Parts: sequence; structure tokens; C-alpha cells
Amino acid sequence: MKAIVIGAGIGGMSAAIALEKAGFETAVFEAVKEMKPVGAAISIWPNGVKCLNALGMKQQLQALGGNMAFMAYNDAHTGSTLTRFSLSPLVQQVGEYPYPVARAELQAMLIDTYGRSRIQFGKRVTQVEQSATGVTAWFDDGSLAEGDFLVAADGTHSVIRHYVLGEHVERRYAGYVNWNGLVTVDESIAPADQWTTFVGEGKRVSLMPVSGNRFYFFFDVPLPKGLAEDRSTLRQDLKNYFSGWADPVQRLIDTINPDTTNRVEIHDIEPFSRFVKGRVALLGDAAHSTTPDIGQGGCAAMEDAVVLAQTLASHSLGIEDGLQRYEARRVERTKDLVLKARKRCDVTHAKDAEVTAAWYADLKNETGERVLAGMCDTIEGGPLG
Ligand code: FAD
Repeated sequence: MKAIVIGAGIGGMSAAIALEKAGFETAVFEAVKEMKPVGAAISIWPNGVKCLNALGMKQQLQALGGNMAFMAYNDAHTGSTLTRFSLSPLVQQVGEYPYPVARAELQAMLIDTYGRSRIQFGKRVTQVEQSATGVTAWFDDGSLAEGDFLVAADGTHSVIRHYVLGEHVERRYAGYVNWNGLVTVDESIAPADQWTTFVGEGKRVSLMPVSGNRFYFFFDVPLPKGLAEDRSTLRQDLKNYFSGWADPVQRLIDTINPDTTNRVEIHDIEPFSRFVKGRVALLGDAAHSTTPDIGQGGCAAMEDAVVLAQTLASHSLGIEDGLQRYEARRVERTKDLVLKARKRCDVTHAKDAEVTAAWYADLKNETGERVLAGMCDTIEGGPLG
């Protein structure tokens, strides 16, 4: 049985590795000639870590992951701690650590695990067709590939989504812009082993440790969609957006390199309930695009990959049946993640200023118990518990 996998991002590579481990032949086709991950880093929560462990990457991932032992929220203007707590109870409950990792390193780990030379780069799929026995994908260079089934991991702008759903779905602007990058750890900005977030005015500034003595940083600012992006004014723009914020935030803005700082307008897609059409399955952002507000988009793609390989390998009623079982196990789970992230997004970014003010007030009384309970619930809803 041969799978055609479209897209060599987190979803496509996790799926290809999982399918091969389950005994399927795979061929991976990626549109770009060279992978340049959008975004500097990603937090892999234990549900995602468990999936990568199951795919044989436990040691490599541990080496890439930052030591994130504590979590803290600080007041935007005074910089004082609103709440700070250990992540140890979470690790103890779910049995695994969270790992913030540099995206380029995660991508390289996945690609090298599969075999870089086996991926066909510069192959942009334009069309997919299927018969009772197989699938054909056409590429923009006029070539084609044939297989028994096709995994569409072609991301949030998926062209295959339209084929599966029979309709076009629009991405929804979530109302804020995110800037992100990597800097060397500076403990005058935040402790090296802590996920630190400054909150105020519906904005946030966050730092997470990744390996190699680096912080993954991000700035969120509620803004209209479509503003011009200009690297030459990036530092001054951030200075304006975060005017009056605490010294560590000003120091971070002084430290960042505008040339390597990414700017992303954050979107999601209203959850839909069809991931599969016959022998073609959507996976990762192609199936469920989420805002990054609970850090679960990539983790969900890893979960998809593990479940897809499991349902195909452990049933005997054929490919279409296996894919239907994959869809049945993933639709509700991923809908829950997308809607949880949207809710978190709205509170963090002051969609309703009163609700956000109440959240800031609650943080002063937060012991960590409620936050960790919510995170554990999300993590334990994954396929590997
Ligand atoms: P992608 O990574 O988009 O990969 C799709 C691949 O398909 C690309 O390589 C693309 O070139 C290729 N492709 C596209 N079209 C075609 C075509 N026609 N033919 C062939 N190939 C094609 N998730 C987390 O788990 N934790 C986080 O902390 C986190 N933080 C985030 C922060 C930000 C700012 C953003 C924007 C997202 C974040 N995410 C996070 C979400 C995560 O990045 C995505 O969910 C994840 O990258 C999705 O992987 P994917 O493989 O489905 O899609």
C-alpha cells in the first residue's frame, strides 16, 4: 500500500514517518524547493511530545527542547508578577514534559528522520483525482504521482481541502498580529527556565526557553488586517505599541533583530466535520486551522499522524474504511482545540475589554491550579492520553 503525502511540514512529515512505521510505502511531495518555516519556534505540549516519542524521536526532541519549569504572568506596566507557578504538577499528571523548540530544528529533525533525499521538493500539487482503486496527484511541472491513498498536509491554504469538502472555506482573521523570533537568553528580561508573559491592554509579550541558551519571544497586538509590513520601522513600531510597558519589555525590543523577526496576521478556520473523501484525507492545518493561543496546531497535526497510521494499520476493511475511522476520531478533538484556542484568543486580546480586565484581576489570585487543570485536560484529550 502506497501513500502519497502532500506537504513536508510538521503534519506531512509526522504522517509519512508514522505511516512508514506502520508498514506503508510513502512518497512525500513538497511545493517549495527549500523549507523556510514560518515562525521561529513552537511549544510542543506533552500530547505532541508523546506522539513524537511514539514515532521514535524521543531523544532528539529532548535535546532540542528548552527547560520550561515555571510559568508566570507579569503586569505590563509595572512588570510585577501577577502569578508564578511550577509546571511540575502538570508534568507529574500527564507523564511528559512540554518542549519549546526552534521551528527550523524541529523541521530538520522530522525531515532527517524520514530521509531528506527521499522528499521530492519543488512539486506543487494542483489537482487530485481518485478511482475505486487508487489516487492520482498532478503537479505544476506537469508530472503526476500515483498511490493507493493520499494524505493532504498542504497547510492552512490547502488546495486539496476544496476537493474534499466540495466548497471553499474562508480563513477568519482573529484580530491580532504576532511578531516572533529568537534571542539569546537575558535574565534581566526573564528567568531562563520560565515561560514569562507580560499582559495588558489586550496585548501580550511572551518568552519561552528553547535549547542553546535562547528565548523564543513573541509580541501580540490587536490590529486591523492588511497593514503594511516594514522591517525598517519594526523596532519603532513595537516601541509605539508597547509604550509605557515595563523595562524588560523595552530591553527585549532593543535586543531583537528586525531582519529575523517574523510578522504573522493570525487566522483560524471555522471547524468543519469532513476530513476524508474516499481515499483522500486532510491532515494538520489543512483539516483544522487554529489560532496559536493554546499552542496546539502543530501538536494536533502530530496527533492526526499517529491516529491515521493506527486506524489504517489496525483495521482490515480497506483504506476507505480506515480513513473514515481516522475522521471519526479526529473531528471532535480538533474542533475542541480550535474553539478552545479561539476563546483564549478573545480573552487575551480584549475582544470584550471587561472580560479581559476580569482575567487580569483573576491572575492575581491564580495559584496555578486552574491554569494547569485546563492544560492537563487539553493534553489528556490526545490519542496517547
Ligand atoms: P504547514 O506547516 O503549513 O505545512 C504545509 C506544507 O505544505 C508546507 O511546507 C507547504 O509548502 C506545503 N504545501 C502547501 N501547498 C502545497 C501544494 N499545493 N503542493 C505541495 N505542497 C504544498 N502549534 C503548536 O503546536 N504549538 C505552538 O506553539 C504553535 N505556535 C504557533 C505560532 C504561530 C505564530 C503560528 C502561526 C502557528 C503556531 N502553531 C503552533 C501552529 C503550527 O505552526 C501549525 O499548526 C503547523 O505548522 C501545521 O503544520 P502542517 O504541516 O499542517 O502545515
